[in-house]
Amino acid sequence: MGPRLRGDDGFIVKYISTRGQAPALNFEEVLLTGLAPDGGLYVPEQLPQFSREEIASWASLAYNELAFKIVQPFIDDCIPADDLKAIIDETYVDFRHPSIAPLVQLDTNEWVLELFQGPTLAFKDFALQLLGRLLDYVLERRHQKVVIMGATSGDTGSAAIQGCKRCNNIDIFILHPYQRVSEVQRRQMTTVMNDNIHNLAVEGNFDDCQAMIKASFNDKSFLPEDRQLVAVNSINWARIMAQIVYYFYAALALGGPHRPIAFSVPTGNFGDIYAGYLASKMGLPIDQLIIATNSNDVLHRCVSRNDFSRHELAHTLSPSMDIVVSSNFERLLFDCYDRDGAAITELMKQLESDKLSISDKAFNSVRQLFDSHTVDDQATVATIADVYDKNGYLLDPHSAVGVESARAVRRRKDIPMVTLATAHPAKFPEAVMKAGYPHEPDLPHHMEDLFEREERYQVLPNDLQAIQEFVVKNITS
Ligand SMILES: *Cc1c(COP(=O)(O)O)cnc(C)c1O
Repeated sequence: MGPRLRGDDGFIVKYISTRGQAPALNFEEVLLTGLAPDGGLYVPEQLPQFSREEIASWASLAYNELAFKIVQPFIDDCIPADDLKAIIDETYVDFRHPSIAPLVQLDTNEWVLELFQGPTLAFKDFALQLLGRLLDYVLERRHQKVVIMGATSGDTGSAAIQGCKRCNNIDIFILHPYQRVSEVQRRQMTTVMNDNIHNLAVEGNFDDCQAMIKASFNDKSFLPEDRQLVAVNSINWARIMAQIVYYFYAALALGGPHRPIAFSVPTGNFGDIYAGYLASKMGLPIDQLIIATNSNDVLHRCVSRNDFSRHELAHTLSPSMDIVVSSNFERLLFDCYDRDGAAITELMKQLESDKLSISDKAFNSVRQLFDSHTVDDQATVATIADVYDKNGYLLDPHSAVGVESARAVRRRKDIPMVTLATAHPAKFPEAVMKAGYPHEPDLPHHMEDLFEREERYQVLPNDLQAIQEFVVKNITS
């Protein structure tokens, strides 16, 4: 049993809001909650700490065994250990590589961690496969059923659908912009035939979809009284938690914790790399974390020169990182401001008026562990071409942003630098072919028939009432 998150009063430590004005929650409650009522994000009041000896003793564990060690202290008494073990063992069955998160070597001390072996070929499967199962377990126990609604421009929706397809207590409705997601991405969602999966193709763009989701969360009165509405976006705490595991897994495979390690992380909403920061706070010796961004470089500007100004959205070859604001960065700032919720509330107000800069102390504390870099489409394509040329290894455009950033700003050549490969190249044929690859990259063999599978989705007008009526009519059971 790992260290336990016990407060001074002997009870399980709670999750608290970054803005300091919301009630603390236990794990089960935080699982079912998105934003805190004060507008903040939930974080654990205390982190589990692992000694080097303890981490070293995990060196021969399989991925699911390691996941149990790391995740268990965050959940503690909310789920009995045997049940949690069974949930975690189930979580990774649909990953097609036996190691779950294999490492590939590009050069001396240069590695790629393949996080795209899951059912939808992107790293979001790590979080959403676990989240769906945890939710279903807790709902079963509470005799409760919920509706999940989300909007997607591609990756998140398919990972959420795959994560929830076996959940008896969840109906999931995913809105995507009609004819504006790639065929692979659409088919990954629409070929899942389970009754509780509902794909809505909206005659509008992604922002329209997102606006309707937001409106539905703001006024839930359209739903039957016994259905709670749940979000599975990247601010959900359980998603972050699941992502901590692979930082430990990669480090252990490369000589950690006796040897420090560095990571380069293709970054959008700052969820994935924030999990790396937590791994370091929990005792894993990490020397450097590189925030790798595409031309939507708000985080690079923040971390390199304390500039948080809002720029317009650019559409890039790495669309899953096309963002204007990175929500999870607030969680890091909370620590850099010594967990002062009032200070964060004030900062976020400034952010809305576009005049934010953080204190020197906070800025310096971010800079201790983090560096950043921005890679435009041209450099992304050049990196895919270079790595294919030298290694015969095909990167997807998001992972290429990571590899190029690692090469540009790494601090030490004598320790392993691991880039997180967040998607499989077959998901992004356009970028790969721009790099000179002669044809669309092949889908992995278990998906070869994706283009022959039957699809099911409903085309609906860009109209909130029509969407909500469809949801209510199609809730199962
Ligand atoms: C979501 C996503 C990212 C960005 O991850 P964040 O946690 O939002 O920073 C990077 N690459 C791919 C392929 C993604 O799907």
